[in-house]
Amino acid sequence: MLEDTLEVATDLDYRFDLAIQLGRLGTAKVYCETCQRFLADRLVESTCPTLDCNYDSARGDQCEKCGKLLNPTELKDLRCKVCQSTPQIRDTDHLFRELPLLKDKLEEYINNMSIAGCWSQNAIQATYAWIKEGVFYVWFDAPIGYVSITACYTPEWEKWWKNPENVDLYQFMGKDNVSFHTVMFPSTLIGTGENWTLMKSISVTKYLNYEASTRYSLAV
Ligand SMILES: [Zn+2]
Ligand SMILES: [Zn+2]
Repeated sequence: MLEDTLEVATDLDYRFDLAIQLGRLGTAKVYCETCQRFLADRLVESTCPTLDCNYDSARGDQCEKCGKLLNPTELKDLRCKVCQSTPQIRDTDHLFRELPLLKDKLEEYINNMSIAGCWSQNAIQATYAWIKEGVFYVWFDAPIGYVSITACYTPEWEKWWKNPENVDLYQFMGKDNVSFHTVMFPSTLIGTGENWTLMKSISVTKYLNYEASTRYSLAV
């Protein structure tokens, strides 16, 4: 499954390497030699640099005691939470999608499809709020998983995903996932310049509480 996801996500034939839609940026990341991998922020521990706090088990991205947001590459006393050894800071290359280059095509899609697909008011509001705010965080390979899971099932996956004339795509989710499906996923597909099946209708619920105060949301 993972291999198929990576194949669809990286194979040039599928044009997910978006050429001019992607900018390149060097970023420092925390690498553990013992574990032989880059560490997610939650796997990095350090001493909180806030003077009155000094919490010795602050997470790489945030101190859970005082709430301060942290950048793991600027911290001292870094520890790998998995093996407790001291990780290194390494330079890495990252590709970023230049969403402003897709703005006109994306807005055209949203304006047309929100009417054709009868998007609910909360889906439309959430979409425009995210476009206005302009701050995103999503794994590039997460929405592409919809495509790759179809590719796992059948080599004829393009019959579904590159056939917008004959396929209507409906998606169901909690409201916190709206922007990933109305902005990020269509941008990924529109950016290739190919004839992808884009989501037509989105059914958005509020949150389902499965414990007294814990929010629970799923996208399918
Ligand atoms: Zn702190
Ligand atoms: Zn380690």
